[in-house]
Amino acid sequence: MIPSDIAQRYRVEDGKNFRLKDINPGDTGGLDKDGAKDLLKDGVKSLSQWQEKLYADDRWSLLLIFQAMDAAGKDGAIEHVMSGVNPQGCMVTSFKQPSAQELDHDFLWRTTKALPERGRIGIFNRSYYEEVLVVRVHPKILDGQKLPKGLVTDRIWQERYESIRDFERHMARNGTAILKFFLHVSKEEQLQRFLDRIEEPGKRWKFSMGDVAERKLWDRYQESYEDAVRATAAPHAPWYVVPADKKWFTRLVVARAIVDTLERLNPQFPTVTGPALDELMKAREALVAEKKSQR
Ligand code: ATP
Ligand code: MG
Repeated sequence: MIPSDIAQRYRVEDGKNFRLKDINPGDTGGLDKDGAKDLLKDGVKSLSQWQEKLYADDRWSLLLIFQAMDAAGKDGAIEHVMSGVNPQGCMVTSFKQPSAQELDHDFLWRTTKALPERGRIGIFNRSYYEEVLVVRVHPKILDGQKLPKGLVTDRIWQERYESIRDFERHMARNGTAILKFFLHVSKEEQLQRFLDRIEEPGKRWKFSMGDVAERKLWDRYQESYEDAVRATAAPHAPWYVVPADKKWFTRLVVARAIVDTLERLNPQFPTVTGPALDELMKAREALVAEKKSQR
């Protein structure tokens, strides 16, 4: 099994003293790549067993938010970690530049529509956090958001953090467990991955010229990520700042964090007792009688 404390180390539930530089993107938590495949297999199996119980119990929802710089491995982490989960119990939604219809609403509208039902796992590939990340790095984007003039002040980022905190507290109080993953890749590793994408014909489609432009704003993005984690980490909605230079390690940490949470929620298959069990036994008798009469 994946070592039980591996996700804990990267969990931030009180952002006050959080510093991004304290997390090394190349960290592998003392593990090495040999054996990582088997560990992940165990993690995926355990996740799939818990997911079935989550679904049957039908009380909690699980919301997994993935944020990262380009090429940090969001897509691969989602694909590998969720590979054993029943597709009926799980939905992935990717959030790109908002549409005209989405801009006609408040910034939590589009993500709210995609929240998981009870018993389900919802995965956000990017999320409302973009509103304090890419929009903060490019404040010009605000001009296109159709906000009334007097509402756009220099307090806007603090106000957005507050909206996010309130929203996540509300969701937690109503039965959604929220985990937020920031896949923390180094600038050097991103460079290498961009080059690989260009050099390997099968990966070229993943590369966009815009990625190079955003890379130039690296430091501003890092600051925005640090501020966002500091402002929105909470025990009911922790951030996991996951080293992302080694994809195999990222996936182990993400899997372990989800399994930790499900273990804590401890959903169980409903048990049938009392009059419902009597009914079930009567149904069984009738079916057994029918089977005998067929012989
Ligand atoms: P990949 O890893 O494959 O590049 P991606 O998640 O980066 O996947 P893209 O289609 O490349 O997907 O980019 C989506 C873009 O949309 C990102 O640059 C992101 O910052 C931007 N975006 C998401 N939400 C918002 C928002 N609310 N306002 C402005 N831009 C947004
Ligand atoms: Mg991209």
